[in-house]
Amino acid sequence: MTKVGNSAASRDKAFYLHPYTNLKTHEEVGPLVIERGAGVHVFDDAGKAYIEGMAGLWCTALGFGEERLVEAATRQMRKLPFYHAFGHKAHDPGIDLAEALIRIAPVPMSKVFFTNSGSEANDTVVKLVWYYNNALGRPNKKKIIARQKGYHGVTVAAASLTGLPHLHRDFDLPIAGILHTDCPHFYRYGEEGETEEDFAIRLADQLEQLILAEGPDTVAAFIAEPVMGAGGVIVPPATYFDRIQPILKRYDILFIADEVICGFGRTGSMFGTQTFGLKPDIITVAKALSSAYLPIAGVMISEPIYQAMVRQSEKIGTFGHGYTYSGHPVPAAVALETLKIYEERDVVGHVRAVAPHLQDGLRRFSGHPLVGEVRGVGLIAGVEVVADKATKAPFDPKLAIGGHVARFAQEHGLIVRAMGDTIGFSPPLVISPSELDDLVERFGKALDDTLAMVT
Ligand code: PLP
Repeated sequence: MTKVGNSAASRDKAFYLHPYTNLKTHEEVGPLVIERGAGVHVFDDAGKAYIEGMAGLWCTALGFGEERLVEAATRQMRKLPFYHAFGHKAHDPGIDLAEALIRIAPVPMSKVFFTNSGSEANDTVVKLVWYYNNALGRPNKKKIIARQKGYHGVTVAAASLTGLPHLHRDFDLPIAGILHTDCPHFYRYGEEGETEEDFAIRLADQLEQLILAEGPDTVAAFIAEPVMGAGGVIVPPATYFDRIQPILKRYDILFIADEVICGFGRTGSMFGTQTFGLKPDIITVAKALSSAYLPIAGVMISEPIYQAMVRQSEKIGTFGHGYTYSGHPVPAAVALETLKIYEERDVVGHVRAVAPHLQDGLRRFSGHPLVGEVRGVGLIAGVEVVADKATKAPFDPKLAIGGHVARFAQEHGLIVRAMGDTIGFSPPLVISPSELDDLVERFGKALDDTLAMVT
């Protein structure tokens, strides 16, 4: 083994294979080592403070220093550090959390299945959809329609659902039976003279054409994030889901709402399902479920799906799916405490109250020479940077302009995320109005630095 320096950075480069990272660049630039967190801030190993404008990965909803979650984890660790739920076993945190989730579900749901991550939740959904249709004696009704730029995770099936090319390329994905329909981004894909309403009608028509071309008897489900996150914070046109949902009903196609980002207040309602008037049959949740303090995620299913699964598991002898850590008692206890805090502190009401500081604050940059579109709802937002405001022409991707904006923001003590040339914002839900104003101001400086770089 070659000699490795003692610093965190050199040991990182020597041993750590980073997720979602340009590995070659990483060998040159190394890591930003984050040492601690407090409130909406994180601090690097040189002591520099950053506003965490993305709540990590859209997830640390209660910020970085919620003692009650630490205590909930510690208590549970002492009492029962592990138990499982296979073969009729159970424990209180798992039962309590399942009950709490079903009680706050935005539409009537029957049961929750726990996983450790959003990817596992969506992967589980793919299996459940297949199992369900086999139970109903419809072995051909198996295809799942997702959307271009939708993000549903990275496991083999979840990455297949994801509609982003770099998750498929050279991984030999997507798997068979996963289809992608159009992305509901009016600014980018709306046609000359088309209203948002026309655009929504056109997308719904295209979805119906796809279903008819494939054969409705072969299409099992449609999956959507209420607001697309990692695809670039894409808020659907107002009537989009109103047009889509009757089509799904017409062809007996299940609707899966991926609430992994939107769930637990992000859009200004407890679930994105409520913000956009959705009626899903299946809902996946993760991230803010435990404020990301420990990994836990879940799949909520409707009563008809559950009933079909009961019959099928009786026939086969078991429901043959589950993770060692499904509903692990420690993350379950932390998630329960998180849900209690959301309720006690009316975190959803807080999001609604402070959201204008983010949304209006960022919209003030609409006139900036680099800004093509500012979009968002609640405490999720995206700013798309363009080379030409009039034609909406993007920058040459080789310039990685979004990455430069994020880098400048970091210099100004703000962590945001570049998704192509869209900069994403998803701060902790507990952020204060003045912290949001600060965030917006720092971002403005990053935009100006970027402008100075390109002109
Ligand atoms: N679904 C959505 C909407 C997400 O944003 C993510 C992650 O960002 C996932 C699923 C996958 O979750 P995880 O990274 O926990 O596997």
